[in-house]
Amino acid sequence: MQTSFAPDLLEHPAFASSEKIIRKCVHCGFCTATCPTFLLLGEENDSPRGRIYLMKDMLENNRPADALTVKHIDRCLSCLSCLTTCPSGVNYMHLVDHARAHINKTYKRPLMDRLTRTVLGLILPYPGRFRLALQGARLAKPFAGMFPKRFHAMFGMAPAHLPARGTSDRPAVHAAQGARVKRVALLTGCAQRVLDPAINEATIRVLTRHGVEVVIVKGVGCCGALQHHMGQEEASNALAASIVRSVMREKRERGLDYFVTNTSGCGTTLKDYGFMLREDAALANDAATLSAMTRDVSEVLAELAIVPRPDQPKLRVAYHSACSLQHGQRVTQAPPIVLRKAGFEVVAVPEGHICCGSAGTYNLLQPEIANQLKARKVANITRMTPDVVAAGNIGCMVQIASGTRTPVVHTVQLVDWATGGPRPASVPTSPAAAIPA
Ligand code: SF4
Ligand code: SF4
Repeated sequence: MQTSFAPDLLEHPAFASSEKIIRKCVHCGFCTATCPTFLLLGEENDSPRGRIYLMKDMLENNRPADALTVKHIDRCLSCLSCLTTCPSGVNYMHLVDHARAHINKTYKRPLMDRLTRTVLGLILPYPGRFRLALQGARLAKPFAGMFPKRFHAMFGMAPAHLPARGTSDRPAVHAAQGARVKRVALLTGCAQRVLDPAINEATIRVLTRHGVEVVIVKGVGCCGALQHHMGQEEASNALAASIVRSVMREKRERGLDYFVTNTSGCGTTLKDYGFMLREDAALANDAATLSAMTRDVSEVLAELAIVPRPDQPKLRVAYHSACSLQHGQRVTQAPPIVLRKAGFEVVAVPEGHICCGSAGTYNLLQPEIANQLKARKVANITRMTPDVVAAGNIGCMVQIASGTRTPVVHTVQLVDWATGGPRPASVPTSPAAAIPA
């Protein structure tokens, strides 16, 4: 695609990067076939190609975002299905991230929209605040009808019972059982540790059981992904910088093989820190190193000798491949391989490349599209008649679980159970005991 960025604009690294990306697009339209919003809405401006044109027009003229561009960029899930489909190697992720940051700087959103985004950015990344907010939302749920419609999805997110605070996310060293084969730091996350602390506990158990020492590094909190996807660049880069400092200090002083995440939405962002912090002279190298040593937990499990206990029931597992894992990180094989090694029958979900509608804060900000995608995903899962659904991202887990009675758990919880850990409470003891969808 031809571009006409002014030379002085190209001196700015963000614009220079976007210009290179846009030039790679040959407007072939292959990406439209796998874009969830184009599939649902059928509008060119809601396809990757249409959005690239809108972003090109906004960025090459360095003009403030307009309402039309914002509408269609806001509707983009950042699922990155287009990124893995594109034959020309267009890095849609970096382009849309730049566009979102540009929108955040140049566009004055309507008051309620502004307020919602500010509140999300101030609450979700901080477990203490998020816990309080969920408790408040749970109490206010019966009165949800009295609140503006855009808050209904937030009330829907509040679980009926909030799990007790986890203990495994405090700074600590969890020793490997037997001979140590690796030493890793674990990102314990923000929203996940409030919504389902059992995931971190299962991760620590299964890794230490297989000879991996797991460190919870002091000062490592939210990775900044949620703010990053809302274009709040300064806030997300500050969180990223804090993680880079803490983890790299631990690596230098005591050694680390990997930085492990069990939330694939975070993993995609961590693996992009090298790019996000490339202009920070003091941190750029460390950020790139951290990105290179980041692994999804399924990638680490795939390197270990997973052997199920002899009485492990062979449950039928529908593996939901989170977009951030399959498109963002291109990790597609490790989770089903590990689940099979752990003794489960794994079935693929039809239309597995299509997003479930969770997409970070998307289901809160764009609930109509998110609900359509959820219904489509749940219907596809139900067709496979699974005993349980496994996923590697808390956002997808919450989204899918709100549409089905089939239990939804993290991949790592099943592998933990199969290799000696406790059975996740919602998972049936045998295929015969499975709950109908
Ligand atoms: S598939 Fe790639 S090159 Fe083709 S229109 Fe989409 S982004 Fe452009
Ligand atoms: S990121 Fe997903 S929703 Fe956005 S344009 Fe690409 S395929 Fe469509």
